[in-house]
Amino acid sequence: MAYNGLMDKLPSENKKLAEQVNWIADRLAESYPDEALTLVRSVLDELIFNVLVQGSSKERALAAFNALKEEYHDWNEARVTRPASMAEIIKGVGLESLKAARLVKILQGIFEDRSEVDLEFLQEMSVPAIRNYLGGMEGIGESSIDTVLTFSLAKNFFPLNKAAVRFGQRFGLVPSLNDGRRLKGLLEDAVPQDKMPVFVLTLEYHNENICRSDKPKCKTCPLQPRCAFGGKKGRLSKEAE
Ligand code: SF4
Repeated sequence: MAYNGLMDKLPSENKKLAEQVNWIADRLAESYPDEALTLVRSVLDELIFNVLVQGSSKERALAAFNALKEEYHDWNEARVTRPASMAEIIKGVGLESLKAARLVKILQGIFEDRSEVDLEFLQEMSVPAIRNYLGGMEGIGESSIDTVLTFSLAKNFFPLNKAAVRFGQRFGLVPSLNDGRRLKGLLEDAVPQDKMPVFVLTLEYHNENICRSDKPKCKTCPLQPRCAFGGKKGRLSKEAE
């Protein structure tokens, strides 16, 4: 699949890497079709889900998110609840007391600022202003903001994490594990906005299940044909036969 001529705008030294990224994005989307189904949440829903998923799994965060939706009529009702009660409702997500206190504080902060509990007004704001607003909330870091921007505000950012950097280094997109910022820039330049949510979700799944920190499953990996680490492993095992 060609990506809208975006690569033509990149400096020539990055074109080859961008082509690799496009190939990776296509292979991941083809290989994990269930993960490629993206859900567009409201801005506030996405932010709340991001608080819940910190240090947890997507499955547990989704169960906690759905429990909150079931318990409260809306986020304004959640705002006036006691954090201890909310912690009971999200039991199982991990760090329940901390997350409940944080969520109530975030909801209260939005209400004090806007006289309503809603974040759709961010749709009209510039990216720096959005970063400034969300970044002022307790526990909301760059990766959470990138996720909200990409999944709910139609912007193009890659939420960086350690697993993505490990993958980028193994595959050969960046030379070392210290090159996270470089990898982030490369991915944001190469993957267009309409493909980014699927890319983020499928790469997360890939890193959790195939390109794991210990014992990556290179033999069954759909990216092995072009991967520097996986290809080397394949060559070494053939030479040993
Ligand atoms: S071939 Fe191995 S190292 Fe390369 S992406 Fe796949 S699992 Fe990761």
